[in-house]
Amino acid sequence: MVLVTELVGAVRLTEVAGFDLRIVRRDDGRWCGLLGGSLDATPHESLDAARTVTEREWRRRGATVTWRSLHTPSAGELACFACGAVVAPTAESPARHPEKLCPACVLEAVDEDGRALAFANADASGGFIARYASGEPRAGHECFVRGRKCWADEARFGGIVVVPFERR
Ligand SMILES: [Zn+2]
Repeated sequence: MVLVTELVGAVRLTEVAGFDLRIVRRDDGRWCGLLGGSLDATPHESLDAARTVTEREWRRRGATVTWRSLHTPSAGELACFACGAVVAPTAESPARHPEKLCPACVLEAVDEDGRALAFANADASGGFIARYASGEPRAGHECFVRGRKCWADEARFGGIVVVPFERR
């Protein structure tokens, strides 16, 4: 599935914790919210509908939602090497990963035969596992995103990072 980022924002639940939020267009032409690597279960028929529902959901939980420019990284941010959308800064970027995939592009990762892959930490202390949609484990860290060979791994401070293969 190809996910095209249409809108980037941030959800701020407290003064200190902010999360990368985006609205993506799926290859069936419908729109979904994407937060922390998870796609909303319910797609919407328009970008406006997806934005309105996503904002309402987060405001109901007491969060602040801020939308911003899709392609203008600010200090500490990167542009995704596959789609060019901004990638929210983390404790380890950009110094450690000068190129990495945005959360929408991570969901497009496939193996050498085009089978969809998902990545996760092995447990709360970290580690790395790759699986197929069927749940079957996949050995190794190589994957492909939009035809480019990539390397998926555990991020230093938790979570998953996907970088170009030559940057592994
Ligand atoms: Zn991307």
